[in-house]
Amino acid sequence: MRIVLTGGAGFIGSHVAAALLTQDPALDLAVIDNLSTGDRARLGTLPLAFHRRDVREPLDDLLADTQVVVHLAASAGVPRSVADPLADAQANIAGTVALLESCRRAGVRRVVYASSAAIYGVPDRVPIREDAPTHPLSPYGLSKLTGEQYVLLYGDLFGLDTCALRFFNVYGPGQRPDSSYSGVITIFNARLLRHQPLCIEGDGQQTKDFIHVHDVARAVELAARTSGANGAYNIASGGPTGILHLARTMRRVSGRTVPIEFHPPRPGDVRQSVAAVQRAAQDLGFRAQVGLETGLRALWQHTDAAAEERAVPFPVGKGKG
Ligand code: NAD
Repeated sequence: MRIVLTGGAGFIGSHVAAALLTQDPALDLAVIDNLSTGDRARLGTLPLAFHRRDVREPLDDLLADTQVVVHLAASAGVPRSVADPLADAQANIAGTVALLESCRRAGVRRVVYASSAAIYGVPDRVPIREDAPTHPLSPYGLSKLTGEQYVLLYGDLFGLDTCALRFFNVYGPGQRPDSSYSGVITIFNARLLRHQPLCIEGDGQQTKDFIHVHDVARAVELAARTSGANGAYNIASGGPTGILHLARTMRRVSGRTVPIEFHPPRPGDVRQSVAAVQRAAQDLGFRAQVGLETGLRALWQHTDAAAEERAVPFPVGKGKG
């Protein structure tokens, strides 16, 4: 069995590589990443072939005799996409179409695509089901939706076996706190480490659906080997978490009594986000297993240990919340 994973040197991709190889140690796994934001070191000594290539170039040579392509490579993050919509579209739309063409020429059987909750925008109702209307609020949301539609269209037009996994708010070890698209958990973690206040935009009653990266990696691994599971799947915990509750929990878990500060709400911020997760459970046999408190505790221990090792403070960026 040969799998090609794009974006494998990224935050989620490196966990996916580890999950795929744990599930099948004999797997022939190739990772493609242009290292625009990725880091080869994230893959450590995992037994895989690494190729510094761009998904927009023809990849027929690497895709020969490949059964499954997992496509995670993307320009990820809302603020980035607002700053440079063209670069976002080139990476996420042109990149996906070019990769699909390479897959078609090489005779790849199945493509698993990383989509995002950002495609939904402000939901009409919660929990958000996969058939809910899509109203992306950023170039990033729009490019992820367009990529998803291309992937599913290639299923209809050319008989590729395809599915799109709509990740909600992913957290866990390895997400960089200094990038403009870090999640709120990673940013809070970095601030706790530096004994800085936790800043909440709005009243903190807004909810997100957080999912640990180990669960996401398991969902991708299940989707890669569940041929015939087609269409879009929410990949989420299925439970809402308020941001104020999150801040208090993280403060308790870390044992650091920093203040919680409230700032004006961000225009267009989604008030309530929680996913319906039945479709992934039914078709992929996937349910999130890492509870929020367990995941936060593990992340804090990991961050604290890593910081001690480096003995330098993390820089802190503005996040997407
Ligand atoms: P990331 O930036 O850490 O990883 C993306 C990887 O893709 C990087 O290693 C980067 O170098 C590589 N890459 C970018 N453009 C490329 C190109 N043209 N050719 C080859 N490689 C390229 O981001 P992540 O958080 O790990 O996200 C992975 C995927 O999951 C993305 O598709 C993202 O849109 C999606 N996603 C992430 C989240 C989240 O909360 N992190 C939520 C929803 C969806």
